[in-house]
Amino acid sequence: MTEILLKNADTVLTLDDDRRELSQADLRLRDGVIVEIGSALTTTGETHDLRGCVVTPGLVNTHHHLYQSLTKAVPGGQDALLFGWLQTLYPIWARFGPEEMFVSAQVGLAELALSGCTLTSDHLYLYPNGARLDDTIAAAGEVGLRFHPTRGAMSIGESDGGLPPDSLVEREAAILEDSIRVIDAFHDASEGAMVRVGLAPCSPFSVSRDLMRDAAVLARDKGVMLHTHLAENDEDIAYSLEKFGCRPGQYAEDLGWTGSDVWHAHCVKLDGQEIDLFARSRTGVAHCPCSNCRLGSGIAPVRKMRDAGVKVGLGVDGSASNDTGNLILEARQSMLLQRVANGADAMSAREALEIATRGGAEVLNRPDCGQIAVGKRADIAVWDVSGIDSAGSWDPAALLLAGPTRVKHSFVDGRQIVRDGQMVTIDLPNVIERQNRLAKRLHG
Ligand SMILES: [Zn+2]
Repeated sequence: MTEILLKNADTVLTLDDDRRELSQADLRLRDGVIVEIGSALTTTGETHDLRGCVVTPGLVNTHHHLYQSLTKAVPGGQDALLFGWLQTLYPIWARFGPEEMFVSAQVGLAELALSGCTLTSDHLYLYPNGARLDDTIAAAGEVGLRFHPTRGAMSIGESDGGLPPDSLVEREAAILEDSIRVIDAFHDASEGAMVRVGLAPCSPFSVSRDLMRDAAVLARDKGVMLHTHLAENDEDIAYSLEKFGCRPGQYAEDLGWTGSDVWHAHCVKLDGQEIDLFARSRTGVAHCPCSNCRLGSGIAPVRKMRDAGVKVGLGVDGSASNDTGNLILEARQSMLLQRVANGADAMSAREALEIATRGGAEVLNRPDCGQIAVGKRADIAVWDVSGIDSAGSWDPAALLLAGPTRVKHSFVDGRQIVRDGQMVTIDLPNVIERQNRLAKRLHG
């Protein structure tokens, strides 16, 4: 039995059903679960004094391509639109192998962890040179984040009129076979699970209609979730209308890609009918504001989605289109963008934080995560508001307006993974050195 006591926090933003904000509060964590919330609590285990800190649920990242942390700020892709950007990067990614997947995932996961994330999904849709989903799962096991990897896929290469080079696409039978393998090997459906696998063809343009449908059938048979990119920009909508004769929402619905077990990344261009469809069917959205800005895709209608009852979470998206992987900054960006589109009262700092925590947990079907309440998993972020970022703030709990962008401590399933701003689970300087060595080899 491992117990940790978090004591004397200035404020605990619980994001529980009543959105309680507690002053001078203590939390007791035991065996991965929050067991007591109150004041003057005691423990037989380790105690952390959190005077000068704000405590929130750990942040939840609902969209990422961890492998891309090896291709940040690639010159030819820095200023390109989506399709041109992809064509610059595909040949570089085609040289990746298992080591690149493992190391880049560790870097991406550590970046997330240091910015308050405790649960992340990942979308890995290319498997060159023997790379496997297993490489990223091993990386997450060491870093200690709760992990929802998705078995992505591309099957339409250049010779079939697709965008990626043929060396990066797989046969559809092989994709389905490996999907079954990774679900059977790694998926844990139980409460408190540290690994849950999903299925995620890269986009409706990079696989056939048959594979989209087969993936949906397989996911339901296995009880796993479905994820892909949808309605990212204007080119995307035009492509859908021309190729499929319908908008992306219709295409998704026709192929079984709506429902509470489905979440789509971006959805910048969803129209009113598609927003209603997503709300009605409980289909989730991974909103990726920095990536949408970076690639000039537009502003996702998050205010409309939330008002209609659509489940919305946040995603940093891959580091090739962000190029950072800081989730608390992503939450700030989501707040700012809705204000650009809809006015200063369109989204509060607290609502954006809710999307980043509870919202993401809802999208990933994790009612056991994303809030601080007795019985929930002990995934906790601790923010030091005694420093420069919050100096002069009248409301330090409005973290996204004036607050730190790195955590002081973080706990995943009751295990400390960041202590005083440093990773404790991995030797980060060593991982960064390995990453830079691999990046240099890829330039060369
Ligand atoms: Zn993406």
